[in-house]
Amino acid sequence: MSETTTAQAATGGARIIDGKGFAAALRGRIGEAVARLKAEHGMTPGLAVVLVGEDPASQVYVRSKGKQTLEAGMASFEHRLEASTSQETLLKLVAELNADPAVHGILVQLPLPGQIDSAAVLAAIDPAKDVDGFHVINAGRLATGQPALVPCTPLGCLLLLRDTLGDLTGLEAVVVGRSNIVGKPMAQLLLGESCTVTVAHSRTRDLPGVCRRADILVAAVGRPEMVRGDWIRPGATVIDVGINRLPPEQEGAKGRLVGDVAFAEAAEVAGAITPVPGGVGPMTIACLLANTLTAACRARGLPEPALI
Ligand code: NDP
Repeated sequence: MSETTTAQAATGGARIIDGKGFAAALRGRIGEAVARLKAEHGMTPGLAVVLVGEDPASQVYVRSKGKQTLEAGMASFEHRLEASTSQETLLKLVAELNADPAVHGILVQLPLPGQIDSAAVLAAIDPAKDVDGFHVINAGRLATGQPALVPCTPLGCLLLLRDTLGDLTGLEAVVVGRSNIVGKPMAQLLLGESCTVTVAHSRTRDLPGVCRRADILVAAVGRPEMVRGDWIRPGATVIDVGINRLPPEQEGAKGRLVGDVAFAEAAEVAGAITPVPGGVGPMTIACLLANTLTAACRARGLPEPALI
Protein backbone atom coordinates (compact mmCIF):
# COMPACT_ATOMS: atom_id res chain seq x y z
CA MET A 1 0.00 0.00 0.00
CA SER A 2 0.92 3.62 -0.31
CA GLU A 3 3.91 5.08 1.49
CA THR A 4 2.20 8.43 1.12
CA THR A 5 0.77 9.87 4.29
CA THR A 6 -2.96 9.79 3.81
CA ALA A 7 -5.94 11.01 5.75
CA GLN A 8 -9.69 10.89 5.34
CA ALA A 9 -11.12 14.05 3.83
CA ALA A 10 -13.01 16.14 6.35
CA THR A 11 -15.95 16.33 3.99
CA GLY A 12 -16.09 12.85 2.50
CA GLY A 13 -14.58 9.42 2.17
CA ALA A 14 -11.73 10.19 -0.20
CA ARG A 15 -8.12 9.62 0.80
CA ILE A 16 -6.14 12.81 0.58
CA ILE A 17 -3.00 12.24 -1.49
CA ASP A 18 -0.23 14.03 0.36
CA GLY A 19 1.95 15.39 -2.44
CA LYS A 20 3.86 17.58 -0.02
CA GLY A 21 4.90 14.59 2.08
CA PHE A 22 5.64 12.44 -0.98
CA ALA A 23 7.77 15.21 -2.51
CA ALA A 24 9.75 15.60 0.73
CA ALA A 25 10.43 11.84 0.83
CA LEU A 26 11.41 11.88 -2.86
CA ARG A 27 13.82 14.77 -2.27
CA GLY A 28 15.31 12.74 0.59
CA ARG A 29 15.90 9.75 -1.73
CA ILE A 30 17.40 12.06 -4.37
CA GLY A 31 19.73 13.50 -1.73
CA GLU A 32 20.89 9.98 -0.78
CA ALA A 33 21.51 9.10 -4.44
CA VAL A 34 23.48 12.33 -4.93
CA ALA A 35 25.62 11.53 -1.88
CA ARG A 36 26.36 8.06 -3.33
CA LEU A 37 27.28 9.57 -6.72
CA LYS A 38 29.72 11.92 -5.00
CA ALA A 39 31.25 9.20 -2.85
CA GLU A 40 31.49 6.49 -5.51
CA HIS A 41 32.07 8.49 -8.71
CA GLY A 42 33.28 11.89 -7.50
CA MET A 43 30.58 13.71 -9.41
CA THR A 44 28.08 16.36 -8.32
CA PRO A 45 24.93 16.82 -10.44
CA GLY A 46 24.52 20.47 -11.39
CA LEU A 47 21.39 22.42 -12.33
CA ALA A 48 21.57 25.79 -14.10
CA VAL A 49 18.48 28.01 -13.89
CA VAL A 50 18.20 31.05 -16.15
CA LEU A 51 15.82 33.87 -15.24
CA VAL A 52 15.29 36.77 -17.62
CA GLY A 53 13.52 39.80 -16.16
CA GLU A 54 11.80 40.33 -12.85
CA ASP A 55 8.47 38.55 -13.04
CA PRO A 56 7.60 38.15 -9.31
CA ALA A 57 6.15 34.61 -9.60
CA SER A 58 9.20 33.47 -11.60
CA GLN A 59 11.53 34.95 -8.98
CA VAL A 60 9.77 32.93 -6.26
CA TYR A 61 10.03 29.71 -8.32
CA VAL A 62 13.69 30.28 -9.13
CA ARG A 63 14.58 30.98 -5.48
CA SER A 64 12.77 27.86 -4.38
CA LYS A 65 14.42 25.73 -7.09
CA GLY A 66 17.89 26.98 -6.11
CA LYS A 67 17.26 26.27 -2.41
CA GLN A 68 15.98 22.73 -2.99
CA THR A 69 18.80 21.98 -5.44
CA LEU A 70 21.39 22.84 -2.79
CA GLU A 71 19.48 20.93 -0.08
CA ALA A 72 19.66 17.80 -2.28
CA GLY A 73 23.46 18.20 -2.38
CA MET A 74 23.55 19.29 -6.03
CA ALA A 75 25.34 22.29 -7.49
CA SER A 76 23.07 25.22 -8.33
CA PHE A 77 24.01 27.79 -10.97
CA GLU A 78 21.72 30.78 -11.17
CA HIS A 79 21.86 33.23 -14.08
CA ARG A 80 19.74 36.37 -13.70
CA LEU A 81 19.55 38.50 -16.81
CA GLU A 82 17.96 41.90 -17.35
CA ALA A 83 14.48 42.09 -18.87
CA SER A 84 16.00 43.86 -21.92
CA THR A 85 18.35 40.91 -22.68
CA SER A 86 18.49 40.08 -26.40
CA GLN A 87 17.73 36.65 -27.82
CA GLU A 88 21.31 36.48 -29.10
CA THR A 89 22.74 36.99 -25.58
CA LEU A 90 20.41 34.36 -24.12
CA LEU A 91 21.26 31.85 -26.87
CA LYS A 92 24.97 32.47 -26.22
CA LEU A 93 24.45 31.67 -22.52
CA VAL A 94 22.51 28.50 -23.39
CA ALA A 95 25.38 27.43 -25.68
CA GLU A 96 27.88 27.97 -22.84
CA LEU A 97 25.75 25.93 -20.44
CA ASN A 98 25.37 23.17 -23.06
CA ALA A 99 29.16 22.97 -23.22
CA ASP A 100 29.79 23.13 -19.45
CA PRO A 101 30.49 19.62 -18.04
CA ALA A 102 29.52 20.77 -14.50
CA VAL A 103 25.99 21.53 -15.72
CA HIS A 104 23.78 18.46 -16.19
CA GLY A 105 20.42 20.23 -16.31
CA ILE A 106 19.39 23.56 -17.85
CA LEU A 107 16.11 25.27 -17.09
CA VAL A 108 15.13 28.55 -18.73
CA GLN A 109 12.31 29.99 -16.63
CA LEU A 110 9.21 30.84 -18.65
CA PRO A 111 7.64 33.20 -19.56
CA LEU A 112 10.40 35.07 -21.42
CA PRO A 113 10.14 38.77 -22.35
CA GLY A 114 8.43 39.56 -25.65
CA GLN A 115 11.61 40.26 -27.66
CA ILE A 116 12.74 36.64 -27.17
CA ASP A 117 11.33 33.70 -29.12
CA SER A 118 10.77 31.08 -26.40
CA ALA A 119 10.56 28.22 -28.90
CA ALA A 120 13.98 29.12 -30.35
CA VAL A 121 15.52 29.18 -26.86
CA LEU A 122 13.98 25.85 -25.80
CA ALA A 123 15.13 24.30 -29.08
CA ALA A 124 18.71 25.47 -28.38
CA ILE A 125 18.98 23.53 -25.10
CA ASP A 126 20.87 20.24 -25.43
CA PRO A 127 18.08 17.60 -25.18
CA ALA A 128 20.33 15.61 -22.79
CA LYS A 129 20.26 18.61 -20.39
CA ASP A 130 16.61 19.56 -21.00
CA VAL A 131 15.37 18.83 -17.46
CA ASP A 132 12.04 20.59 -18.14
CA GLY A 133 11.42 18.03 -20.91
CA PHE A 134 10.06 20.68 -23.27
CA HIS A 135 12.44 20.06 -26.21
CA VAL A 136 10.75 18.45 -29.22
CA ILE A 137 13.31 15.63 -29.11
CA ASN A 138 12.22 14.74 -25.58
CA ALA A 139 8.53 15.11 -26.51
CA GLY A 140 9.13 12.78 -29.45
CA ARG A 141 11.04 10.28 -27.34
CA LEU A 142 8.24 10.22 -24.77
CA ALA A 143 5.65 9.74 -27.52
CA THR A 144 7.61 6.86 -29.04
CA GLY A 145 8.40 5.12 -25.75
CA GLN A 146 12.14 5.89 -25.75
CA PRO A 147 14.12 7.09 -22.72
CA ALA A 148 13.33 10.80 -22.40
CA LEU A 149 13.48 13.65 -19.95
CA VAL A 150 9.80 14.02 -19.05
CA PRO A 151 8.08 17.31 -18.09
CA CYS A 152 8.17 17.63 -14.31
CA THR A 153 4.51 18.25 -13.45
CA PRO A 154 3.04 15.26 -15.32
CA LEU A 155 5.93 13.10 -14.07
CA GLY A 156 4.99 14.14 -10.51
CA CYS A 157 1.35 13.24 -11.18
CA LEU A 158 2.39 9.81 -12.44
CA LEU A 159 4.50 9.12 -9.34
CA LEU A 160 1.53 10.03 -7.11
CA LEU A 161 -0.79 7.79 -9.16
CA ARG A 162 1.59 4.82 -9.01
CA ASP A 163 1.99 5.32 -5.26
CA THR A 164 -1.79 5.52 -4.75
CA LEU A 165 -2.97 2.81 -7.14
CA GLY A 166 0.02 0.58 -7.88
CA ASP A 167 -0.41 -0.99 -11.33
CA LEU A 168 -2.41 1.31 -13.62
CA THR A 169 -2.87 -1.25 -16.44
CA GLY A 170 -6.26 -1.14 -18.12
CA LEU A 171 -7.63 1.77 -16.10
CA GLU A 172 -9.74 4.43 -17.85
CA ALA A 173 -7.84 7.72 -17.62
CA VAL A 174 -9.27 11.09 -18.62
CA VAL A 175 -6.91 14.08 -18.89
CA VAL A 176 -8.67 17.44 -19.12
CA GLY A 177 -6.28 19.86 -20.86
CA ARG A 178 -3.98 19.36 -23.85
CA SER A 179 -1.09 21.76 -23.24
CA ASN A 180 2.43 20.72 -24.27
CA ILE A 181 3.70 21.06 -20.70
CA VAL A 182 0.97 19.18 -18.80
CA GLY A 183 -1.95 17.62 -20.69
CA LYS A 184 -0.19 15.99 -23.66
CA PRO A 185 2.80 14.52 -21.76
CA MET A 186 0.41 13.34 -19.00
CA ALA A 187 -1.62 11.47 -21.63
CA GLN A 188 1.56 9.92 -23.07
CA LEU A 189 2.72 8.78 -19.63
CA LEU A 190 -0.65 7.19 -18.85
CA LEU A 191 -0.63 5.46 -22.24
CA GLY A 192 2.82 4.17 -21.33
CA GLU A 193 1.25 2.65 -18.19
CA SER A 194 -1.31 0.88 -20.43
CA CYS A 195 -4.25 3.01 -19.37
CA THR A 196 -7.06 3.68 -21.86
CA VAL A 197 -6.59 7.41 -22.28
CA THR A 198 -9.01 10.16 -23.31
CA VAL A 199 -7.73 13.73 -23.68
CA ALA A 200 -10.46 16.35 -23.21
CA HIS A 201 -10.22 20.09 -23.94
CA SER A 202 -12.27 23.22 -24.47
CA ARG A 203 -14.01 21.77 -27.54
CA THR A 204 -14.94 18.43 -25.94
CA ARG A 205 -18.65 17.63 -26.07
CA ASP A 206 -20.31 16.55 -22.80
CA LEU A 207 -17.22 17.07 -20.64
CA PRO A 208 -19.02 15.96 -17.43
CA GLY A 209 -20.03 12.71 -19.16
CA VAL A 210 -16.49 12.09 -20.41
CA CYS A 211 -15.07 12.73 -16.91
CA ARG A 212 -17.56 10.31 -15.34
CA ARG A 213 -15.94 7.45 -17.31
CA ALA A 214 -12.61 7.98 -15.55
CA ASP A 215 -10.97 5.69 -13.01
CA ILE A 216 -8.20 8.32 -13.11
CA LEU A 217 -9.18 11.94 -13.70
CA VAL A 218 -6.40 14.51 -14.21
CA ALA A 219 -7.56 18.14 -14.36
CA ALA A 220 -5.06 20.58 -15.95
CA VAL A 221 -7.23 23.40 -17.17
CA GLY A 222 -6.59 26.59 -15.21
CA ARG A 223 -10.25 27.24 -14.33
CA PRO A 224 -11.04 27.45 -10.62
CA GLU A 225 -13.20 24.55 -9.36
CA MET A 226 -14.53 23.75 -12.84
CA VAL A 227 -14.74 19.98 -12.25
CA ARG A 228 -17.75 19.35 -10.03
CA GLY A 229 -18.47 16.48 -7.67
CA ASP A 230 -21.12 14.96 -9.95
CA TRP A 231 -18.54 14.72 -12.80
CA ILE A 232 -16.62 12.13 -10.80
CA ARG A 233 -17.11 8.40 -10.92
CA PRO A 234 -17.49 7.02 -7.37
CA GLY A 235 -14.12 5.76 -6.13
CA ALA A 236 -12.10 7.47 -8.88
CA THR A 237 -8.62 8.88 -8.24
CA VAL A 238 -8.56 12.62 -8.92
CA ILE A 239 -5.34 14.52 -9.64
CA ASP A 240 -5.84 18.28 -9.58
CA VAL A 241 -3.01 20.10 -11.37
CA GLY A 242 -4.71 23.51 -11.38
CA ILE A 243 -3.31 26.39 -9.37
CA ASN A 244 -5.74 29.30 -9.37
CA ARG A 245 -5.68 32.26 -7.01
CA LEU A 246 -9.19 33.52 -6.28
CA PRO A 247 -9.53 37.30 -6.35
CA PRO A 248 -9.30 38.74 -2.79
CA GLU A 249 -12.56 40.60 -3.32
CA GLN A 250 -14.45 37.32 -3.87
CA GLU A 251 -16.59 36.67 -0.81
CA GLY A 252 -14.76 34.48 1.71
CA ALA A 253 -11.91 33.78 -0.75
CA LYS A 254 -9.24 36.09 0.72
CA GLY A 255 -7.10 35.43 -2.34
CA ARG A 256 -6.80 31.74 -1.50
CA LEU A 257 -5.48 29.10 -3.92
CA VAL A 258 -7.87 26.58 -5.41
CA GLY A 259 -7.48 23.87 -8.01
CA ASP A 260 -9.46 23.03 -11.12
CA VAL A 261 -11.60 20.63 -9.07
CA ALA A 262 -14.31 21.62 -6.55
CA PHE A 263 -12.45 19.84 -3.75
CA ALA A 264 -15.16 19.45 -1.07
CA GLU A 265 -17.73 18.08 -3.53
CA ALA A 266 -15.20 15.83 -5.24
CA ALA A 267 -13.90 14.40 -1.96
CA GLU A 268 -17.45 13.15 -1.22
CA VAL A 269 -17.33 10.91 -4.29
CA ALA A 270 -13.69 10.18 -5.18
CA GLY A 271 -11.63 7.31 -3.77
CA ALA A 272 -8.52 9.51 -3.52
CA ILE A 273 -7.79 13.13 -4.39
CA THR A 274 -4.90 15.60 -4.37
CA PRO A 275 -5.50 18.84 -2.45
CA VAL A 276 -4.52 22.34 -3.63
CA PRO A 277 -2.15 23.45 -2.26
CA GLY A 278 -0.08 20.49 -1.08
CA GLY A 279 -0.86 18.01 -3.86
CA VAL A 280 0.75 18.18 -7.29
CA GLY A 281 2.52 21.54 -6.76
CA PRO A 282 5.38 20.30 -4.51
CA MET A 283 6.01 17.37 -6.87
CA THR A 284 7.10 19.65 -9.71
CA ILE A 285 10.40 20.82 -8.18
CA ALA A 286 11.09 17.37 -6.71
CA CYS A 287 10.78 15.93 -10.23
CA LEU A 288 13.05 18.68 -11.58
CA LEU A 289 15.71 17.42 -9.17
CA ALA A 290 14.95 13.82 -10.19
CA ASN A 291 15.42 14.78 -13.86
CA THR A 292 18.73 16.52 -13.07
CA LEU A 293 19.95 13.38 -11.31
CA THR A 294 18.80 11.26 -14.26
CA ALA A 295 20.59 13.58 -16.73
CA ALA A 296 23.79 13.44 -14.64
CA CYS A 297 23.75 9.62 -14.50
CA ARG A 298 23.11 9.37 -18.26
CA ALA A 299 25.94 11.83 -18.97
CA ARG A 300 28.36 9.43 -17.24
CA GLY A 301 26.75 6.23 -18.51
CA LEU A 302 25.83 5.26 -14.93
CA PRO A 303 22.67 3.35 -14.00
CA GLU A 304 19.82 5.62 -12.97
CA PRO A 305 18.82 5.18 -9.32
CA ALA A 306 15.28 3.88 -8.74
CA LEU A 307 13.59 6.73 -6.92
CA ILE A 308 10.22 5.14 -6.18
P1 NDP B 1 -2.92 25.91 -20.59
O1 NDP B 1 -3.70 27.17 -20.50
O2 NDP B 1 -1.72 25.84 -21.47
O3 NDP B 1 -3.91 24.74 -21.08
C1 NDP B 1 -5.20 24.62 -20.54
C2 NDP B 1 -5.95 23.51 -21.22
O4 NDP B 1 -7.26 23.45 -20.65
C3 NDP B 1 -6.12 23.69 -22.73
O5 NDP B 1 -5.85 22.49 -23.40
C4 NDP B 1 -7.59 24.09 -22.88
O6 NDP B 1 -8.21 23.60 -24.02
C5 NDP B 1 -8.22 23.41 -21.68
N1 NDP B 1 -9.43 24.11 -21.28
C6 NDP B 1 -9.59 25.44 -21.06
N2 NDP B 1 -10.88 25.71 -20.75
C7 NDP B 1 -11.53 24.53 -20.78
C8 NDP B 1 -12.88 24.17 -20.54
N3 NDP B 1 -13.81 25.07 -20.23
N4 NDP B 1 -13.21 22.88 -20.66
C9 NDP B 1 -12.28 21.96 -20.99
N5 NDP B 1 -10.97 22.24 -21.20
C10 NDP B 1 -10.61 23.52 -21.10
O7 NDP B 1 -2.59 25.51 -19.10
P2 NDP B 1 -1.43 24.53 -18.49
O8 NDP B 1 -1.59 23.17 -19.02
O9 NDP B 1 -0.13 25.21 -18.58
O10 NDP B 1 -1.86 24.56 -16.95
C11 NDP B 1 -3.11 24.07 -16.50
C12 NDP B 1 -3.27 24.37 -15.03
O11 NDP B 1 -2.24 23.70 -14.32
C13 NDP B 1 -3.13 25.85 -14.65
O12 NDP B 1 -3.99 26.10 -13.54
C14 NDP B 1 -1.70 25.97 -14.19
O13 NDP B 1 -1.53 27.02 -13.24
C15 NDP B 1 -1.51 24.64 -13.53
N6 NDP B 1 -0.11 24.20 -13.50
C16 NDP B 1 0.35 23.72 -12.33
C17 NDP B 1 1.64 23.27 -12.21
C18 NDP B 1 2.09 22.70 -10.91
O14 NDP B 1 3.27 22.68 -10.63
N7 NDP B 1 1.17 22.15 -10.11
C19 NDP B 1 2.58 23.34 -13.34
C20 NDP B 1 1.97 23.76 -14.59
C21 NDP B 1 0.67 24.19 -14.63
P3 NDP B 1 -7.85 24.11 -25.52
O15 NDP B 1 -6.54 23.46 -25.86
O16 NDP B 1 -8.97 23.60 -26.33
O17 NDP B 1 -7.76 25.61 -25.45
